[in-house]
Amino acid sequence: MGVRPASVCSDLLKPGGYGRLAPMLKALTSAVVASGATNLDEYRSASLDAARHAGHRDTAAEHLIDVLGASKGKYELAGNDKLPREVDHDLEMWGCVACNFCVTVCPNDAFFKLPTPKADADPGGIFAGINGRQQYLVFSELCNECGNCLTFCPETGDPAVIKPRLYLEEERFEAAEGPRFLLGSDGAVTASAGGGADEHCRPSSPSSTQPKDCRSDSTELRRMGEFITP
Ligand code: SF4
Ligand code: SF4
Repeated sequence: MGVRPASVCSDLLKPGGYGRLAPMLKALTSAVVASGATNLDEYRSASLDAARHAGHRDTAAEHLIDVLGASKGKYELAGNDKLPREVDHDLEMWGCVACNFCVTVCPNDAFFKLPTPKADADPGGIFAGINGRQQYLVFSELCNECGNCLTFCPETGDPAVIKPRLYLEEERFEAAEGPRFLLGSDGAVTASAGGGADEHCRPSSPSSTQPKDCRSDSTELRRMGEFITP
């Protein structure tokens, strides 16, 4: 098919994530067409010749002089010793300082936020005592465990593991580990405390947030039910 690996992973970790890929491919396609090449090998060869002709080697040499000279500080510890902001708190499934970093730095748009249900209107409700007007959740099926949210989260812990992890496909849900939720196409929510299927708590109906089989005190499932069946 003429497909070749391309080293764009660092760029895809910038805001926009994999959404940046489509414009990149369009630009590449336009450049290949404009060059008159009929495949990527031809395009690469022609581009290499053009770069050499335009003094590419000189450009690389100039860059090397710069990074070893005027810009050297940017590549040394002193220029990179500012640590991300931290707060002295262990991250929990519900509630956090709501800095929104996990949403903005995720290259896959796996993280999203929802308003805390009835946080003000129902002070005795299931979300009573939970910090923040927003709750942060992650679609595990979109997460490729890049670690970006862990790097930026100011609380202690991995948001991709600790925050409510949602699945849409039962097979993936069953195969996963750790606390997680399955959102059924009928609106039903299934929760797993972390082990096998016998530890799951299933609502008795899509409109019910009460587990039928087990753990009637499943706080996590009831909270998730607040999101799914407001
Ligand atoms: S670890 Fe997963 S959720 Fe976190 S930024 Fe990477 S892809 Fe997104
Ligand atoms: S999980 Fe961490 S990064 Fe995401 S909003 Fe909460 S504190 Fe910020």
